[in-house]
Amino acid sequence: MLKVDHVTKYYDKLKAVDDLSFEVKDGEIFGLLGVNGAGKTTTFRMITGLLDMTKGNITFNDKKIDYSVTDKIGFLTEERSLLTKLTVLEQAKLYGGLKGLTNEEIEKRLDKLLKKLEIEDYKNKKIKELSKGNQQKVQLIMSIINEPKLLILDEPFSGLDPINIELFKELIMDLKNKGTSIIFSSHRMDHVEYFCDSLVILVKGKTVLKGNLKQIKEDYRKKNIVVEGNIDIDKISKIKGVNKVEENKGTYTINIDDISVNEKVFKEVAKGNNITKYELEDASLNEIFIEKVGESYEK
Ligand code: ATP
Repeated sequence: MLKVDHVTKYYDKLKAVDDLSFEVKDGEIFGLLGVNGAGKTTTFRMITGLLDMTKGNITFNDKKIDYSVTDKIGFLTEERSLLTKLTVLEQAKLYGGLKGLTNEEIEKRLDKLLKKLEIEDYKNKKIKELSKGNQQKVQLIMSIINEPKLLILDEPFSGLDPINIELFKELIMDLKNKGTSIIFSSHRMDHVEYFCDSLVILVKGKTVLKGNLKQIKEDYRKKNIVVEGNIDIDKISKIKGVNKVEENKGTYTINIDDISVNEKVFKEVAKGNNITKYELEDASLNEIFIEKVGESYEK
């Protein structure tokens, strides 16, 4: 289990991370979210031992993160960090070697991963000859070739098409099911909703929301009602507690303050005709993110 305990990081006078605490259990995927400059990369660097913290503690299975632990960490960074003149195999040998693996082990693991990601043919190709998406696959392979116990994935799907996103998703879920603790960071809230059990949202280093995703959604009072059919939007918009009504390709999304408004909306919708859908849904993580981040900028 990873434990980040009251961690603060200053760059000179800038407080980039402010009293951050969270835990990631074995087999859990944890979301570390925030807008640009929120302190995510700084946090990843402290976890991986690349950067010292100013205050606080970070432990993995109750041990401070040092060289004995970093061998068991995988880090897929947002920026490309491949040596593009090398072949995929050469890169794997270099990277796996740094993590204490033998060439034989590396090649065995590489073959398996290349097959899983359907790029076996690229093993002896120079990385610079690969497409952006295939380079991203190689980058993921490098971050998991050491079979990490803790894996950090920063925007793992960047540059990938939907088919390759599915391949990545399978691989990530396999690792989770094998007990790997995973920190997942992305600006794509749909991906965060898909993967994460718990999350934290940072704004300028400060924690503005933290907890179990299911609980966060239940606690968030605003809900959406999704309707298909002929309805009087003007009348519905004027109901007290209705924040906005949006239409997209014949589907209406009615955002309400809380569940008590549902009945009034239902009665009004029932006056319409050809109603083929009426569903009360929790707000999306995207909506929660925008509101929480917006609020904290206003403070
Ligand atoms: P992004 O999503 O844009 O990658 P981030 O959440 O990863 O952002 P960080 O890169 O951790 O954010 O930056 C947090 C704050 O610390 C920012 O204000 C940034 O300008 C500052 N910062 C980051 N690295 C350094 C550094 N080496 N020296 C000084 N300030 C830094």
